[in-house]
Amino acid sequence: MKKESLWLDLEKEQDIETLKQDIEVDVLIIGGGITGLTTLYYLKDSHFNVCLVDQDLIGHGVSGKTTGKITYLQETVYYDISKKYSVSVAKQYFQSQKKAIEAITNIIEKERISCDLENVTSYVFTNTNEEISKVKMERKILKSFGAVIEEHHKPIGKFQNLYAISASDTYVFHPVKYLRALKRICKLEGKKVYERTRILGLLKEKNGYVAKTKDAHIRAKKVVLACHYPFFLLPYFLPLKANIEKSYVTASLSKFKPISMITASKPTQSIRYHKAEEEYAIYLSNSSNLCNQLSDEENFNEVIDGAHKLSLQPCYIWKNDDLMTVDSMPYIGEIEKNNPNLLMGTGYNTWGMTNGTLAGILLSDMILERENEFIPLCSPKRVLRLKHIGSLVGNVASSAKGYIQNKISKNKKWYPKAVHFQKLNGKNVAIYDDGEERHIVYNKCPHMGCSLIFNEVEKTWDCPCHASRFDIDGNCIKGPSCYSITYRK
Ligand SMILES: Cc1cc2nc3c(=O)[nH]c(=O)nc-3n(C[C@H](O)[C@H](O)[C@H](O)COP(=O)(O)OP(=O)(O)OC[C@H]3O[C@@H](n4cnc5c(N)ncnc54)[C@H](O)[C@@H]3O)c2cc1C
Repeated sequence: MKKESLWLDLEKEQDIETLKQDIEVDVLIIGGGITGLTTLYYLKDSHFNVCLVDQDLIGHGVSGKTTGKITYLQETVYYDISKKYSVSVAKQYFQSQKKAIEAITNIIEKERISCDLENVTSYVFTNTNEEISKVKMERKILKSFGAVIEEHHKPIGKFQNLYAISASDTYVFHPVKYLRALKRICKLEGKKVYERTRILGLLKEKNGYVAKTKDAHIRAKKVVLACHYPFFLLPYFLPLKANIEKSYVTASLSKFKPISMITASKPTQSIRYHKAEEEYAIYLSNSSNLCNQLSDEENFNEVIDGAHKLSLQPCYIWKNDDLMTVDSMPYIGEIEKNNPNLLMGTGYNTWGMTNGTLAGILLSDMILERENEFIPLCSPKRVLRLKHIGSLVGNVASSAKGYIQNKISKNKKWYPKAVHFQKLNGKNVAIYDDGEERHIVYNKCPHMGCSLIFNEVEKTWDCPCHASRFDIDGNCIKGPSCYSITYRK
């Protein structure tokens, strides 16, 4: 069984350029996931001198580990937004998702991108009587927006379900093939893409910003933070306004029905069909807040058990996480009052194929000073209502829980026998002994000082507060931290 994302294993990266010298650009995009590359794509014909940088390779962030569904049927999001705001806000969100789906399919068609795009029916289903009325409400709301939503009272595919709704104008694709094609197209148009180029800090200057990498400085008039968790934004209090949800995913060779399904609410189970050279069933479960009590190993075992119950034999397993906002809608746009030069796109609530694309459209429109009806809807400056306060408090509590439980308990299940702690040259370190070599790291996340958990399955050090990840030797492989934890004498 391979311990990596199916998408990254099937698609190897080529044509990698790293930034070695100082440059000046009009627009700097930090992050080469779906947000950054879609923004770059929509700016490719502009007169702006634009460059995109990624700390890793294109698609190695969250976008390369998704289930790759392109759908507006997203659990019971319209019911939730109607409750939190109003039906008319839910309708705008629906229209924004439809717009994004149209944008992705148009780009794929226009650019003739080969990324296994397939039109499949999406289902949202429930197994509990209590939830049926909520899913029925979701259908009613969607129908009032003009969507064609069928209902089903019999089991569909491999899941037992009491009630389900479905939409047929939805898709699945191979996210990494799509992103790498966007990179190639933008490079052909003369836009610069630098990989393995990490931004370590961002400073405001008189005429814009200066971003610092290990080897160079990038001066930019405008900056787009498309780095999933914009760690540069302490004043924006993102940890209060969003929490991180992790999920465990498997891919199995299977002649599975060409559909895509997800449960109406927690605990989430999701499955989709994928056809390339081979046919796969991609199954996801064990979604939870970062600091749930199970270790990664236990979560991986549970997702594998879940796959077995559906008669699937996983050949890939991986873990991924996304940013969940307090009001179920993304944060896209200006962060500070009267500052159109610092923009961000994040908080996609596990629906980033559409929302990341929407971000690309909105952020490029803002840069090109074009109006767009969805800018106010997604604005990070929108006023959160009293109804969201509970979630704000929950976010603080869960980060604090991750911080405290790990700091105090050093719970054994998060640290296998091969890991032990000691003081080296006066510094607290964690040592992982793989039988041949000792890998020594500082066991503290450079982002906000949380103690790290060892992920025995993928052999990574993971932060239980804000989801930074480090490889076995302490190299940072995922933010918000941008520093490594490698022990240096
Ligand atoms: C398990 C799971 C399944 C999902 N399935 C779906 C799905 O089926 N459909 C759907 O619509 N959505 C899905 N999502 C959500 C979706 O995958 C995400 O919302 C989306 O990919 C986020 O895209 P992004 O561009 O914001 O982030 P990323 O793809 O993470 O891109 C950010 C990039 O920034 C780079 N970066 C970070 N820090 C720096 C730095 N300091 N310097 C330079 N570069 C930096 C990273 O390397 C990364 O490549 C899923 C999410 C999860 C967790």
